[in-house]
Amino acid sequence: MTILRVGVLALQGDVREHLTALRGCGAEAASVRTPAELESVDALVLPGGESTTMSRLLQVFDLEMPLRERLAGGMPTLSTCAGLILMSREVLDGRPDQIALGVLDISVRRNGYGRQVESFEADIPVALLGVAPFRAIFIRAPRIEHAGPDAEVVASFGGNPVAIAQGPHLGLCFHPEMTDDPRLHQLFLERAAAALEVSAA
Ligand code: GLN
Repeated sequence: MTILRVGVLALQGDVREHLTALRGCGAEAASVRTPAELESVDALVLPGGESTTMSRLLQVFDLEMPLRERLAGGMPTLSTCAGLILMSREVLDGRPDQIALGVLDISVRRNGYGRQVESFEADIPVALLGVAPFRAIFIRAPRIEHAGPDAEVVASFGGNPVAIAQGPHLGLCFHPEMTDDPRLHQLFLERAAAALEVSAA
């Protein structure tokens, strides 16, 4: 069976932490900065960072259209924080020209947890991970204001969804790559491999 090859969108943001987490799970992982590199991977992580900057760099690096095509073709993704904003259907409090790839059936508000709580951590139960809660690190996180019928809410905090599963996609408001808990990367790899009918590692 072929082994899943995972890319991390490496325009900006916490790329190295995701590469380390994926490799720690035994996956083959590489950074993606060009259309050819995007073509060479089976699944993609869209990391945290700054969604307006990533949006602009997607255009500068001629990646927007190839990325839209791969997503239309069913490429699995793990998106976190700014990456989740990029993947969403609607962005509130964004720049008018920022990209919403329209894959995740959610409406997100940038920096939606407000100034007072720019960063915080919480132990959150995640439906797909069993009983032990996940230590979720939020950094100027987007708040999911609405999840449509295609988006399965797998974790919530303070009444809002913070983790979404939708077909081969996982979307998180927080940063699993900043913890040493591999369970969400592992879950992503398993779901991506199952969707593509290849081996996770
Ligand atoms: N506030 C950032 C944005 O709007 C996201 C923050 C993050 O990725 N940690 O893109």
